[in-house]
Amino acid sequence: MKLDTKALRYLTAEDWRVLTAVEMGSKNHEVVPTTLIVQLSGLRGGSGVHKSISTLAKANLIARMKNAKYDGYRLTYGGLDYLALHTHLKHTILYSTGNCIGVGKESDIYVVASPSGQQLILKIHRLGRISFRSIKNNRDYLKHRTSASWMYMSRLSALKEYSFMQVLKKNGFNVPEPVAQSRHTVVMELVDAFPLRQIQSVPDPAGLYAELIDVILRLASFGLIHGDFNEFNILIKENEAPKERKTTMKEANDDDVPKEHGTEESKPEGDQQSKEPETKSSEVKLTPVIIDFPQMVSIDHTNAEMYFDRDVNCIKRFFERRFNFVSDESGPRFADARKLAAGNNGKRLDVEVEASGFSKKMAKELEKYMQAVGVDGDGGYDEDDPDDTPDESHDELK
Ligand code: ADP
Ligand code: MG
Repeated sequence: MKLDTKALRYLTAEDWRVLTAVEMGSKNHEVVPTTLIVQLSGLRGGSGVHKSISTLAKANLIARMKNAKYDGYRLTYGGLDYLALHTHLKHTILYSTGNCIGVGKESDIYVVASPSGQQLILKIHRLGRISFRSIKNNRDYLKHRTSASWMYMSRLSALKEYSFMQVLKKNGFNVPEPVAQSRHTVVMELVDAFPLRQIQSVPDPAGLYAELIDVILRLASFGLIHGDFNEFNILIKENEAPKERKTTMKEANDDDVPKEHGTEESKPEGDQQSKEPETKSSEVKLTPVIIDFPQMVSIDHTNAEMYFDRDVNCIKRFFERRFNFVSDESGPRFADARKLAAGNNGKRLDVEVEASGFSKKMAKELEKYMQAVGVDGDGGYDEDDPDDTPDESHDELK
């Protein structure tokens, strides 16, 4: 869905109150009666509220429900987008919105700017975009779903992602800095990097592989499984060449760095000043940054072993196909992960997330819904199967 922000700046304070009233009314009504909108807006009835209703309907932020038993409106996804953007603007998180850089099955990704001009990412969760196949398979469950519940699930998804990003960042994981969350949106740091999916070769596949397996195990040691650990959700950051370069673990070679990344040839001055004698100007440090957390699960989850193995196998398969790299070591296995979780001084981030507001009940609700609509990650497909290719537009900067 397109994010059309044209009307954002001309809506009056009253229009916003009426839009908020429709949102409040949506909690208990699929179609919010006009009388309730008037009441909840706290504005005197009469032409003012009706003028706002008509402005909002024209901008497609609310939709008149024609066949309802009573006269009423429902909030549209556009309306929810506006409410979230309004909150981010009010809290001076955002100043402007820019290009859409990704449209996935379950989210839209925009580059936006803060009031100080810093570029950020706005991720809009859209769990209502259901594939026909999953509707067919889950007709009974979804029969009772309404647009209001799609919105609620998208909110849960955003809240979950934001909560996990906060605890992961706090505990030293390489994830984008979470900036704010409102309704079905998360604002986060823009990572200047490409998804692993787009990288054709790396100087040291073994080193990168080990690092990624280490991330999986470190997550496990804190009681977590990413659940969608694949080449789309791992961004590979090339650290800029500092003047005094530190030796990295990798034996990077500029010749091997994929050219499409526009890597600037580094020109360090005064290498001799470096404290590390083996420092070379040709070294590039690749750092994986992990994203996309709505499907994260606890290591105590009933299907934890399946999720853990799938994460590990995704990486193994990708490294074999793309880089011709197969690790000498088998595993890691779920049993290893469990041991790590037991030995980490009882520090459990799955529990910490619960305490931060994303409850077990919410997790269950979201999981049930995600299963019904077939949210099962965007990777894990078979490159050799022509019918099983993901949406490439997802990754490309437009
Ligand atoms: P989805 O749930 O739709 O897969 P993701 O969070 O994985 O959403 O984001 C989709 C794509 O958008 C990613 O593969 C990546 O290319 C880009 N992206 C998402 N977040 C960021 C970010 N913080 N910085 C840079 N690119 C990002
Ligand atoms: Mg993703």
